[in-house]
Amino acid sequence: MAPGAGRFAPSPSADLHIGNLRTAVLAWLFARSSGRRFLMRVDDLDDRTDADIARRQLDDLAAIGLTWDGAEWQSENPQRYDAVVDELASRDLLYECYCSRKDIAQAPRAPHAPQGAYPGTCRDLTDAERETRRAETSRPPAMRLRTDAIVHTVHDLLHGDYTGTVDDFVVRRGDGVAAYNLAVVVDDAAQGVDQVVRGDDLLPSSPRQAYLTRMLGYPEPTYAHVALVLNEDGARLAKRDGAVTLAEIGVERALGQIASSLGYTAMTVEQMLTEFTASDLPRHPWIYRPD
Ligand code: GLU
Repeated sequence: MAPGAGRFAPSPSADLHIGNLRTAVLAWLFARSSGRRFLMRVDDLDDRTDADIARRQLDDLAAIGLTWDGAEWQSENPQRYDAVVDELASRDLLYECYCSRKDIAQAPRAPHAPQGAYPGTCRDLTDAERETRRAETSRPPAMRLRTDAIVHTVHDLLHGDYTGTVDDFVVRRGDGVAAYNLAVVVDDAAQGVDQVVRGDDLLPSSPRQAYLTRMLGYPEPTYAHVALVLNEDGARLAKRDGAVTLAEIGVERALGQIASSLGYTAMTVEQMLTEFTASDLPRHPWIYRPD
């Protein structure tokens, strides 16, 4: 059987910080220790992304010793996403949504509606109501998946069973570009990714993605959401926390910090591979103190 693949999928909106580098190392360790290929995917569908930042991110990942078997840029594959949006539309699973963020925030909700779930405003409009909304709204509509606001459970190697809401999430943005949750699912399937290792800030997105994966008939990947790095105040690491990027820290020190955060004595990622046991990974966030 051909080996599957793991991947790292940075969003090139800022240079990688030590926490992102550590997540990348872990994704690489999970893949390599299980005989999988390792792929890079540049998640550059967002307007805030930048090709120069993407190149620096890949350079940094290579500089710390990661190797990969291919790299893709999401912006190069619009037809891949369009084909899936067309398929979902032909199965009558999509509807146009004219809501702004403010409309969604202000919409009345059922008393037990899950926090943050789309309230369904545009879900059951008649054709005439759609015409009116289209005429009233200057923005082109986004496309949402009809899901019935269900819950879905994924199994995570580090968190166990995780159940989260699957609301009618956006699959194509108003600007016609694939939304994150659709792109990630379609790319993972197209690239043969069967192991998703990423920061645990994305754990709440995984039920939506697993649900869409199932609807599209793709095999569900294994998930491992690794603990994030926090600053000494318990907040997400940011520029103001001092030396956080590879350019500021230096390769050797960064590798030393990553290794010690995992309880390893290794100095290279290849050496970390000999010490890596997925089930022994720390479950709590790593509090980063620049040294
Ligand atoms: N590009 C996303 C991020 O950097 C991660 C996507 C994923 O791993 O599924 O937050």
